[in-house]
Amino acid sequence: MSEIYWNGEYKKKHEVGIPPDDRGFLFGDGVYEVVRIYRGRCFEMSAHEHRLLQSASGIGINIGYFKGMLEVAENLLRRNILPNGDGILYYQITRGTAPRKHFFPGEGVLPNHYAYVQPLPVTDFKERPGASVVTLPDRRWLECHIKSIALLGSVLAAQQAKEQGAVEAVLHRDSVVTEGSHTNVFAVVEGVLKTHPANQLVLNGITRRIVLELAQQEGLLYEETSLSLSELKSASEVFLTGTTVEIWPVTQLDGKPVGNGQTGPITQGLQSLFDRNADRLT
Ligand code: PMP
Repeated sequence: MSEIYWNGEYKKKHEVGIPPDDRGFLFGDGVYEVVRIYRGRCFEMSAHEHRLLQSASGIGINIGYFKGMLEVAENLLRRNILPNGDGILYYQITRGTAPRKHFFPGEGVLPNHYAYVQPLPVTDFKERPGASVVTLPDRRWLECHIKSIALLGSVLAAQQAKEQGAVEAVLHRDSVVTEGSHTNVFAVVEGVLKTHPANQLVLNGITRRIVLELAQQEGLLYEETSLSLSELKSASEVFLTGTTVEIWPVTQLDGKPVGNGQTGPITQGLQSLFDRNADRLT
């Protein structure tokens, strides 16, 4: 049954031959998005589409023929079964297929669009175990606001974290905490909720933005500011945010408990406020 989207067509995955000269394959020359689907509806779709277009223009990809992510998602949802309608949409655009040369191929080369949906069950946040993370140097490029498919720095960090028995790497540059390998990072330091400013060193996460909106609504003290590694290590609460993990409490950092090793009250409050409500679904 399962079908994917490839350049305007819906096909069985095994029927699609990705061209070996696709620049995504050769150079990691492309951009992508991951959108959460709750009960068959897309969460914050317009924000994801906006970020996809920004990422593409950030590296000079002319996206060409584009139906819009929502239409593709709806067609994929008709062709695939997601238990309870819960899952994700992956949408990728590469600069297209051309003989291998570093500089951009000519105008005539069209981008390659690839998308699929895949199941992802929704879990009750109260039943999810806290995350154990390790801190590692941030070895990625300096344009992390672009959601590029070239993810080697993140892949290496995630693998190193896994080898150390952790579920995520929290990255730092010059002792300033940037973000996780695939999440944004928040910490509560002396009662103030802190996260890295949304500049070129981090992805401006959509979940991050929602958390900041919730913090404002609730009158919490919060700052988008540099968070040092030592502040992180002494924080009373730390949590990760992302489309797939939502708000994920960190209970162990570099092998030591965060606070009392349980989800803290600010994190818990934000988790219960995090809504998948109709306003955010299309
Ligand atoms: N930072 C990085 C490096 C990521 O890959 C992700 C996942 N997209 C995030 C942060 C979280 O972003 P979002 O909340 O938009 O999923």
